[in-house]
Amino acid sequence: MQQRIITARLLVTADRPPIDNGALLCNADRIVAVDNLTALKKSHPGIFVKDYGDAVILPLLVNAHTHLELTDFSHWADRKGEVVDEYKGFVDWILQLIQVKKKLDPDNYRHAVINGIEQSVSAGTGVVGDILAHHSARSAYQGTPLAGVVFLETLGQDPAMIRRLKKALYQNLEEPFAAEAVLGLSPHSPYTISNVYLRHVYHLCKRRGLRCCTHIAESKEELSFTRDSRGAIAERFYQAINWQRFIPPPSGLRPVAYLEKLGGLFPENLLVHGVHLDENDVELLACNKMSLSLCPRSNQRLNVGKAPAGRLLKAGVNLALGTDSLASNDSLSIWDEMHFAAHWFAGELDAPTIFAMATRQGAAALGVSDDYGSLSVGKRSGFQIVTAPDGAASEVYEYFTSGIATDAIMQIYHDGVPLLSGVKSS
Ligand SMILES: [Zn+2]
Repeated sequence: MQQRIITARLLVTADRPPIDNGALLCNADRIVAVDNLTALKKSHPGIFVKDYGDAVILPLLVNAHTHLELTDFSHWADRKGEVVDEYKGFVDWILQLIQVKKKLDPDNYRHAVINGIEQSVSAGTGVVGDILAHHSARSAYQGTPLAGVVFLETLGQDPAMIRRLKKALYQNLEEPFAAEAVLGLSPHSPYTISNVYLRHVYHLCKRRGLRCCTHIAESKEELSFTRDSRGAIAERFYQAINWQRFIPPPSGLRPVAYLEKLGGLFPENLLVHGVHLDENDVELLACNKMSLSLCPRSNQRLNVGKAPAGRLLKAGVNLALGTDSLASNDSLSIWDEMHFAAHWFAGELDAPTIFAMATRQGAAALGVSDDYGSLSVGKRSGFQIVTAPDGAASEVYEYFTSGIATDAIMQIYHDGVPLLSGVKSS
């Protein structure tokens, strides 16, 4: 593609104040210049200008935590006659997840990932932190524009099973992965993986420079299990999957301290949820320069509590935003998540902060800041155009968190190429 200028009434770059009549100069896949239209036309005369008129140009959004292989979850649950929205507790939800997933085959997961990628891209998401338990489903990413990290999930308590899993994991990491996204690893959570294997996975990530992702401090049940080896996880979940003999001795540690002990507090390990954190936990995360993806709609759906977002922000933890999977959420839209977060964390996180979580902080959490997360010179020319707000430019962040429906997205660009056909340009 030859160079072109894309302009609209407002340009929101996510790393500087909004620019009235802002414009981007793009070549094939990179942003070459960012300025207002008049200045850009003057410095680059004769370049084709695509003017979207009364609209806002902004970065593609970052969904820092999801499981696209579960995109078809409600369809699977319907087919099995399961009611998906009545949970008595966190462990009930896990048990139902296991029940619904019984007898699915690899093709089911691959199709779900394809659907999830489609839903994400059409909702203006350009970057994901996606967890895949079914590693072969990663082939769905090939040829799609979705960037970020596909975390191959691993877990287990049985040493014999872990030996088999490790072998398969090493093989999967060796195979070529021709996608915009890169591969990472996700040891699921402190309550589903042995301490020896968890330490091993963290060591492997550091040695190979792989991004990592761990669910942490999501529920009270996890806290009881990690610290005391008791509660519903030990008594019901471990029993349901026949893991009783692997219940570890009590560590006496809260989840974050447990992770620290096993080498899990390093900046490339994106933590997820962080609902049950005390002052000391928050301090540990900040000291270790950790990123944490909050998933407020999922936390509300599973009734596990609310993350201490204000304290995390104040301590300097890099906060990102994720939808989690459609087994605990209604949509994969980060627009929807921002809308909900603005209410859920009212008084703790303001609209500009929530927008930063969904753009540049999310990109930093996934290690893709050189290419994504904001619109500046040298980054990939991926952005979206939405209908403009009525208010002033200074209120644009409130507009972004007010609930933007997918049909307000006028156009989506990946590598300088518009994806939507039949778009209006007002
Ligand atoms: Zn998750």
